[in-house]
Amino acid sequence: MSHKILMLPGDHIGPDIVAEADRLLRCLAADFGLQAELEYANLGGCAVDAEGAPFPESTRALAQAADAMLLGAVGGPEWDAIERDKRPERGLLAIREAQGLFANLRPAILFPELADASSLRAEVVAGLDILIVRELTGGIYFGQPRGIRTRDDGVREGFNTLVYGADEIERIGHAAFAAASRRQGRLCSVDKANVLESSELWREVMSDLAAQYPHVELSHLYVDNAAMQLVRAPKQFDVMVTGNLFGDVLSDCAAMLTGSIGMLPSASLDANGRGLYEPVHGSAPDISGQDRANPLATLLSVAMMLRYSLNESALADRVEHAVQAVLGQGLRSADLAANGVTPVGTRAMGDAVIAALRAQTD
Ligand code: NAD
Repeated sequence: MSHKILMLPGDHIGPDIVAEADRLLRCLAADFGLQAELEYANLGGCAVDAEGAPFPESTRALAQAADAMLLGAVGGPEWDAIERDKRPERGLLAIREAQGLFANLRPAILFPELADASSLRAEVVAGLDILIVRELTGGIYFGQPRGIRTRDDGVREGFNTLVYGADEIERIGHAAFAAASRRQGRLCSVDKANVLESSELWREVMSDLAAQYPHVELSHLYVDNAAMQLVRAPKQFDVMVTGNLFGDVLSDCAAMLTGSIGMLPSASLDANGRGLYEPVHGSAPDISGQDRANPLATLLSVAMMLRYSLNESALADRVEHAVQAVLGQGLRSADLAANGVTPVGTRAMGDAVIAALRAQTD
């Protein structure tokens, strides 16, 4: 069966990096048997310009019909002044909501070749391979009631509600256990169950789910300890699962262990494994149109798409090995190049990954 993939290039460097993903997918189709149909749609600032809204109806319809979506990045200074609900970032929130993308998967992988890019000592992080699974559509960012009010004594106070239903915890739990099953089979659930009732329930539901995944070893950490462990000895982790707020903080912390924003892919999945795949970085207006963007985070997002939505793990492995091979050849884009190293452009990096893919022997 042919997979329907919706390509959403977005703004600034988005089209350049998605062009490399397009070439990679076509190579996988031509030489490695991938069955895929690519379609294109507007999201973000380009959609505002062309269709008057950041997530237009035409894009919504194509998203609905797709098995997976690949996004470049959205946003830029030219759309900063327009009204709030037309901002490019609104398009991103709207597509996540419309597609029910509640599970955010953020790997933090540090290829040994890039160990010097991290602010931690190379031996602490070289070979790091963590996956953080963050609940994306619930918790304190969405809980009601919320607001700013004035108390009887005249002092203003801000308030939010941290609420998680057992059903929400269960579905993110299933996504995390399933991801851990595909990896080393170790899942660490992060909460604050010593203080928060919502975390008490979180821990209980996660523990109950464990019986359904006998091959996954479940552990629990309080979030403060988890943050400490992430910077002390990050390689102890395989998969971490946590709520929206804790996941927001921990995934950025884990990302920075790798030191290179141009290398980090991500996925946001629905309950059926359909998903939106995108690099973690933004649209980098400062380097747009200069052939300087690193396409590797986008190509690694394609690898995630192959693994998590298209059931093509062997091809995902191939793409990741090809990326590692070009790093092993010493190729570095501008964001990774040390002083004295001539950086490789976006297109040339894409060429090198495709060449490495074709050079692979089984
Ligand atoms: P950014 O991630 O776009 O850029 C931060 C820095 O990293 C810049 O110096 C940029 O040149 C560099 N960089 C980013 N990606 C790179 C790549 N692939 N190769 C080489 N260098 C790279 O963050 P920002 O500057 O804060 O935001 C720029 C725009 O992107 C804003 O409009 C913001 O709202 C938007 N944004 C979009 C997303 C998204 O689409 N998911 C995420 C974050 C920011």
